[in-house]
Amino acid sequence: MIFHHETGETVMQELASSLSDGLSSSQAVQRKQQYGSNRLREKKKKSNLRRFIDQFKDVMILILIAAAAVSFVIACIEGDPEGFFEPVLILLIVVLNAMMGVLQESKAEKALDALKNLSAPHARVLRDGKETVIDASELVPGDIIRLEAGDFIPADARLIQSASLKSEESALTGESVPAEKDAQAVIAEDAPLGDRTNMVFSGCSITYGTATAVVTATGMNTEMGNIANLLEAEEESMTPLQKKLAQLGKYLGILALAACAIIFVVGILNGIPSMEIFMTAVSLAVSAIPEGLPAIVTIVLSIGVQRMVSKNAIIRRLPAVETLGSASIICSDKTGTLTQNRMTLTKAWLDGMDSPEDISTDNSKEIKQLLRYGALCCDGSVVFENGQEQHVGDPTETAIILAAHKNGMPKNELNRACPRLAEIPFDSDRKLMSTINKIDGRYVVIVKGAFDVMASRCISGNLEAAQRITEQLSASALRVLAVAYKEIDCVPAVPIPEELESRLIFLGLVGMIDPPRPEAQKAVGVCRKAGIKPVMITGDHVVTATAIARELGIFQDGDRAVTGTELDAMSETELDAQVEHISVYARVSPENKIRIVKAWQRKDQIVSMTGDGVNDAPALKAADIGCAMGITGTDVAKGAADITLTDDNFATIVDAVREGRGIYANIKKVVGFLLGTNIGEVIAVFAAMLLWHRSPLLSMQLLWTNLVTDSLPAIALGMEAVESDVMDQKPRPKNESLFAHGFGVRIVLQGVLFGALCLLAFHIGQTVTGELAGGQTLAFLVLSLSQVIQAFNMRSEHSLFRIGVFRNRRLNQAALVSIVLVALVLFTPLSIPFGLVRLPVSLYLIGLVLIFVPVAVMEFSKACGLIRHSH
Ligand code: ATP
Repeated sequence: MIFHHETGETVMQELASSLSDGLSSSQAVQRKQQYGSNRLREKKKKSNLRRFIDQFKDVMILILIAAAAVSFVIACIEGDPEGFFEPVLILLIVVLNAMMGVLQESKAEKALDALKNLSAPHARVLRDGKETVIDASELVPGDIIRLEAGDFIPADARLIQSASLKSEESALTGESVPAEKDAQAVIAEDAPLGDRTNMVFSGCSITYGTATAVVTATGMNTEMGNIANLLEAEEESMTPLQKKLAQLGKYLGILALAACAIIFVVGILNGIPSMEIFMTAVSLAVSAIPEGLPAIVTIVLSIGVQRMVSKNAIIRRLPAVETLGSASIICSDKTGTLTQNRMTLTKAWLDGMDSPEDISTDNSKEIKQLLRYGALCCDGSVVFENGQEQHVGDPTETAIILAAHKNGMPKNELNRACPRLAEIPFDSDRKLMSTINKIDGRYVVIVKGAFDVMASRCISGNLEAAQRITEQLSASALRVLAVAYKEIDCVPAVPIPEELESRLIFLGLVGMIDPPRPEAQKAVGVCRKAGIKPVMITGDHVVTATAIARELGIFQDGDRAVTGTELDAMSETELDAQVEHISVYARVSPENKIRIVKAWQRKDQIVSMTGDGVNDAPALKAADIGCAMGITGTDVAKGAADITLTDDNFATIVDAVREGRGIYANIKKVVGFLLGTNIGEVIAVFAAMLLWHRSPLLSMQLLWTNLVTDSLPAIALGMEAVESDVMDQKPRPKNESLFAHGFGVRIVLQGVLFGALCLLAFHIGQTVTGELAGGQTLAFLVLSLSQVIQAFNMRSEHSLFRIGVFRNRRLNQAALVSIVLVALVLFTPLSIPFGLVRLPVSLYLIGLVLIFVPVAVMEFSKACGLIRHSH
C-alpha cells in the first residue's frame, strides 16, 4: 500500500489498528516477530580476534617480533637451547600485552555501549487502550504513536490527527526549513518525500505542534533505513586530549628511537653481541614509546563517565568530559533547575481590587471567577489517590488547577461544564496560552501568560495598577501570570494567535511561589570558590528572577539583570563590555541564549548552557558544554547536548564539573606516572651504555616491567577518587598544555631519579656479586618495584599519609598483582630464562631501601611545596 496516497482510515484498516486502543500486546509481539526490532542495522562490531590482530599494527612491535624470530632461527641453527629463551619469552610477553590491550578496549567499549543504551530513544504509544512510553526499538507497524514539539520521530508513520504540525526533515530531504504537515492531506502516488505532508519519517523531528500517527514502517524498512548505509560510515574520533597525547607519543617516540640507535651503536662498538644489543634497543623503544596512552585515556574517561551516570549526568560525547573540567561559566535555566518547579499559587488579584488576596480554600467570588477562567486555560490535572495529591502536567498549570480545586472547582467538572473547543498551546516565545471554551452558551477565548506580553493585547482593565501589582508580587520572588478573555461569535477552523490573542479584556493576576532548590544554593557557593561564574537565564519576569537569583547567591551587589528586550537592543560591543557584570537574563528567547554563549566565548571562557526546548538546540550546540534536561527536555534538545541531566538539577552540573576536573587530574597522574618511569628506563640504559658499555636491563626484563607489570597500576591510578580540593582551584584555561605549571619538568626530574636509582642498583649489584647478571637482577628489582611505589606517589599532590596510603583499593590490588608478577620472575625457575639470579640477602635489603627512595623524595618535595597545585 502507498500510505501517503490513502486516507487515514484506509491506512488504519490496512494495518488493522484502532485509534482508541492501539495494538494489543499480543498483536505487538506477533508483529515484532514478523518485522523485527525497530533499529537501523548497526556497524559490525570488531571481533576480539580482529582487535587482537590490530594490537600488532605498531611498527616497533613488529620489529621486535621480527628480531625475536631472527634470534629464534639463529638459536635453531646454533642448536643452543638457552638461545630459545629470549625469543620465546619476548613473543609470550608481546602476546600477553596484546591480550591486555584487547581486554582494555572491550572494557572501554562496553562502558560506552552502556551509555548509548541510557540515551536510547523512547516513544509514546497506545497499547491495549493505554498510553505508555516504550523503547523506540519495540515499535511495530500499526502502533499508534503520539508526537509533540521536540520529539524525535521513532518510525515512519501516517498522520491520523495533527495540530499545527511541523517536522524538520533535513536528514532525509536536505531541506532545513521545517515542513508543514497535515493529517487530512491525500498526496499523489508519485510525490517525492519532501511533499508527503501526511507522513512523518523516522530520524526526523517535530519542531511544532502535536500529532497522533500510525506506524507504517520500522527499522531498515523506513526511509532512513534506505539510506542508512550512508550513515554507517561515521567513525568514532579521538578527544582533543587523546590527539595531543598521540602527537606527544610521536615526538617521544622519535627521541626514544634516537636514544636506542645510539645505544645500539655504542653496544656494537663495545663488543656486545649484535643480536643481544639489537633486542635490548628495540625492547627499550617498545617500552619507552607511550603508544598505549590514548587507549588508557579512553578507559579513564569512560570509567569517569560511568561514575557520572550515578551522579545523574549522562555524557553523550566523550570529549565533553575534558571540556567540563575547564568550564568557567555555567548558564542555567531557572525553573526546575535552580528552583524546585513545585509551584504553589499563593496570591491572586482581580482587576479593580485594592490589593492581592491570599489563596485559601474559600476565596472571594471574584477570585473564584479568576481561578475558574485560569484553570479552564490549563492542561494537566490534579488527582487525589488515597488522599495523596498527584499532579500531572506543567507545574505552572497544576498550581492554578489545584487552587481552583480547593475552591470547589475540580478540573474535570470545569471541563464538563465549559468544554474546550480549540486551543493554541503555550510556547516560550509567545509566553501565552489560549483556549476557546463554551461558557454558558457563549464562545469565550481565555488567554493566560506573562503580564508584559499580555498588557499590549488588552483593550480594557486598569493595566497600570496591574503593572504595579505584578512588580510587587515579583519582588517577593513570585511567578506572575495574567489572565484575560474575550467573547467571539464563532470558533475558527484554524486558530491564529494574532487574531485570538488581541483586543482582550484584562481579568486579573495570579502569583505562585517556586522555592529554590536547597542544594542549588550550596552549588552556587562551590562554583564561586571554583572560579566559575553562575548565570541565571530564564523566561520569567526580571524582578522574580532577580529575587530568586539574590536568594541563591547568583546575583550579587553590583551585578546587572537584563531582559531579552534590553539584550536585543545591545550591540555586540555593548554586550562584550557588559557581559561580565550580568548575572541574570530574564524574559529571554532561545536566540538570546546563543548571543550570551558567543559573548562569553569571545572572552575565551568555556561556557556551559542548559536547555530543554526545540529552540534551545542551537544554543546547546554553540555552548562548549550543552546540558539538556532529562525530565523536561525534548529529544531534540537532548540530541544537541553533550550532557543530559537526569534530575534537571543545577547542582548536577557542578558535580559533573567536579568529576570532569577529577578525571582530567587522573589522566594527568597516569601520564605523569608512565612518562616518568619510562624516561627513567631510557636514562638508565643510555647512561649505563655510555659509562660502562653494558645494559643494566635485558630486553625481556624491560618488556616485563613495561608491558606487564606497570599497566595495571596505571589504570588503577586513573580510577583514583576525585580529590577533595579540585573545586578550590580556578578553572583550567582552554588550551592549557597537560604539562603546564612545571608538570613536564617534574616528570623529567622523576625520570632522572628513577634512572639514577636503577644505575645505582646495577652498579652495587655488579660490584657485590662480581657478575653482570647480579647487577641486572638488582636493577630489575629496584626499577620494577619502585615503579609500583611511584603509582602511589602519583595519587596526589598532597602527602600520601594525609590522603591515606591505601585508600585506592584498586591500586592496592593492582600493586599486589604487579609485586607477585615481579616475584614470579625473580624467585621461581622462571628467573633462568629472564636472566635473573639469586642475590645475597644484604643486596635485597639494599634494594628495599632504594625502592622507597622515591617516596622520601616525593614526600619531601610535597612538603616543601615543590609539587604545586597544577591547575
Ligand atoms: P526557565 O526554565 O528558562 O527558567 P521559565 O520556565 O521561567 O524559564 P518559560 O516556561 O518560557 O520560562 O515561561 C516564560 C513565561 O511564560 C513565564 O514567566 C510565565 O509568565 C509564562 N508561562 C509559563 N508557563 C505558562 C503556561 N503554561 N501558560 C501560560 N503562560 C505561561
